[in-house]
Amino acid sequence: MASAFSHAVAALGIAACFYRPGTPKRVWVMGAFCSVIPDLDVIGFRFGIHYGDFWGHRGFTHSLLFAALLASAVVLTGFRQAAPGLGRLPMWVYFFLATASHGLLDAMTDGGLGVAFLAPFDNHRYFLPWTPIRVSPIGVARFFTNRGLDVLQSELLWIWLPAALLALSVWLMRRRAGPSM
Ligand SMILES: [Zn+2]
Repeated sequence: MASAFSHAVAALGIAACFYRPGTPKRVWVMGAFCSVIPDLDVIGFRFGIHYGDFWGHRGFTHSLLFAALLASAVVLTGFRQAAPGLGRLPMWVYFFLATASHGLLDAMTDGGLGVAFLAPFDNHRYFLPWTPIRVSPIGVARFFTNRGLDVLQSELLWIWLPAALLALSVWLMRRRAGPSM
């Protein structure tokens, strides 16, 4: 895992691409929430589920299909009507990308097992060819150590900074395009 805060920051970076004035904040908050959900799979450790299992950490809940299902469930239950400035399809795409970004970032970390992007069709665990993000320890207590600081630094550099740059570039592009966008 990258840490929960960093997943949420990535989701907010993605939110910048969908942002329209007047869209209720709960849309963006829900996207941040979606980006954290996949790591609920760590509960499985307590019930004897192994890391490499289908329901194991970075298994099905980190897959693209899970992201599609979660996005559908959120739109169907929480957003029955289009939000001001944002139709339900773009909203679905936002929730999908926010959730899927979780697996993508985990696949860029330097530890643990890879991510089962294609579960349930293929349970193979994938890493991206490039893994600059230090893997975050599982459990909050272990985060407050030297290693935690190390993880935080790498997440600031490889998640927070790109998310901020993404948001900034979208904002600049829109400003250039004029107030209608
Ligand atoms: Zn994860």
